[in-house]
Amino acid sequence: MSNWNIEQAEKMYGVSQWGGGYFQIGENGNVQVLPDPNNSSVKIDFKAVIDEICDEGVQFPVVVRFHDILRSQVAALNLSFREVIAEAEYQGEYHGVYPVKVNQMREVVEEIVDAGQAFNYGLEAGSKAELLTVLAMNTNEGSLTVLNGYKDEEFMRLALLGRKLGRRMVVVVEKYSELLLLVKTSKELGIEPIIGVRAKMTVKGRGKWESSGGERAKFGLTITEIINTARYLEEQGMSHCLKLLHFHIGSQLTDIRAVKEAMTEGARIYAELHKMGFHLDYVDVGGGLGIDYDGTKSTNESSRNYNMQEYVADVVYGMKEVCDMEGVPHPNLVSESGRAITAHHSCVVTQIVGEIRSDSSKMATDEVDGEHIFVKNIRELAESFDEQTNMQEVFNDASQWKEQALDAFKLRVLTLEELGKIETLYWQIMGRLHEYYSTQEYVPEELQELNYSLSSQYLCNFSVFQSAADTWAIEQLLPVVPLTRMNEEPTVNCSLVDITCDSDGKIDQFTIGREITDIMPMHKLRKDEDYYIGLFLTGAYQDVMGDMHNLFGRLNEVHIFSYDDDPQDFYIEEVVKGSSVEDVLNIMQYNPRAMASDVKRMIDKQISSGKLNPREGVKWTDFYESCLSGYTYLKP
Ligand SMILES: *Cc1c(COP(=O)(O)O)cnc(C)c1O
Repeated sequence: MSNWNIEQAEKMYGVSQWGGGYFQIGENGNVQVLPDPNNSSVKIDFKAVIDEICDEGVQFPVVVRFHDILRSQVAALNLSFREVIAEAEYQGEYHGVYPVKVNQMREVVEEIVDAGQAFNYGLEAGSKAELLTVLAMNTNEGSLTVLNGYKDEEFMRLALLGRKLGRRMVVVVEKYSELLLLVKTSKELGIEPIIGVRAKMTVKGRGKWESSGGERAKFGLTITEIINTARYLEEQGMSHCLKLLHFHIGSQLTDIRAVKEAMTEGARIYAELHKMGFHLDYVDVGGGLGIDYDGTKSTNESSRNYNMQEYVADVVYGMKEVCDMEGVPHPNLVSESGRAITAHHSCVVTQIVGEIRSDSSKMATDEVDGEHIFVKNIRELAESFDEQTNMQEVFNDASQWKEQALDAFKLRVLTLEELGKIETLYWQIMGRLHEYYSTQEYVPEELQELNYSLSSQYLCNFSVFQSAADTWAIEQLLPVVPLTRMNEEPTVNCSLVDITCDSDGKIDQFTIGREITDIMPMHKLRKDEDYYIGLFLTGAYQDVMGDMHNLFGRLNEVHIFSYDDDPQDFYIEEVVKGSSVEDVLNIMQYNPRAMASDVKRMIDKQISSGKLNPREGVKWTDFYESCLSGYTYLKP
């Protein structure tokens, strides 16, 4: 239709709603990336990125990382704290840390550390492997390294090694026995630890992760245990080592009220400890700063009813209010936002490799001699109805006959060909009903489902289990949009399916405006033209939690930097190869080289028995080997 425009595309796909200032729809109908919201002159056209990826010979699906977005988010969070702290005349400082579990990719962590240097922004680790990582990566002595998670003696020794190297390593005690282990180890080694305690909060976060708080929370000390910790350290002459109070009430907090409640509770614990003589330097408010995945700015599970500035203001003012009331000093503030730092920076780009429809193929349905009465009935129905007919009745009759036909087929009454004709006629009727109801205000409930059953499934060259794990596991909504042609009206209603052999491998939750829907309009596929879609906001968790379902493995990656002097405003700084078939087979304990020689031996045998000509045999051998070293995804 001629009246389609970019504004309508924006309404449908909500790019600037979920885009956080980093994505918008350009006048040419392509998605544009603005890696630095403070400098809108740098605009990257996504089509140019796709072209560059093709020129580099990198196969799709591809993870596209915008390093500048990572840097922008690190700066935004730190500057936001600085501004609010100044405005509130808060006496402490902000010493944020990035929790590496949210995305441990080396390039991601390196970029964050580098961008955070100016703010003394540190790292957080929650396991021994992560601790080994942050020990090597966080070399800024002015920043904190916060160590959460369950710990053993080796873990304590590594943390104390960090102290020896002059780092501000904070060991956060998650359960009481860890305290005894830490004190013992530090005395043996003669190295003073910096100790934090994690409080089990009574306030629960709202949303998917609300069980991270509350009395049954897996981590943290009860009030009694915190008091006992402080007293024990006093007895050991180590109360000066107790420096940090930590709490974390869950990820993706959807409701700002949970943040306010947690601040009050946490601040009270800090103030009371201070009055008992334990003068802590830091209060660490954990993670939880949410992302508006569905663009609704609501308390939906994939959204949040506040923004970064409001979150920061609630943390700073919440703490200040309680401290001023209690007459205790303002502590330095630490937060552990991971999702908010990384979600926007990466997306998955892939092409549609096919379309699946229930009514896509038709057969001739002309009358033949001696055909079954069921075929005749449904044909007559298809030929007879018009606008005047009771459409609900047509639907009922057609559905009933189709069901009966299936029973009749199983009872050997109908032939396969007759069943095929009935199917064709049935979908023909449904198509016409759908057309009729698309212009009507009132659509009966049963018929509303026609929209879904007559929609297409676009087959996408990727694996939900690898690239959108949260969509599958916790029904997390991710924005999925076409990267080009937004200036054309999308006329095909569809849901998306992946290339795994698993019916769970699909995406059928979208938002249009504020509505959650099961289908999303996309553009009609054109012959000889690839249609690219992007799954956005995949940089937190999804990026690193993917699994090996169907042995697809990791994606090719391109790392993009923006660059003002380049006519296209960007360059690909690095290409990281995804999994080859060999790589994934090795993980599963196969020996690809042995497999190749087994297949070669079988081919040689066919050659020597004359069943295969030697030239062809060599070709087949090479082909098998090249597939082994190739990419796991489809080559459309
Ligand atoms: C997971 C986790 C975080 C990160 O939370 P986000 O919601 O991603 O910011 C921070 N702190 C702790 C202790 C965590 O377990």
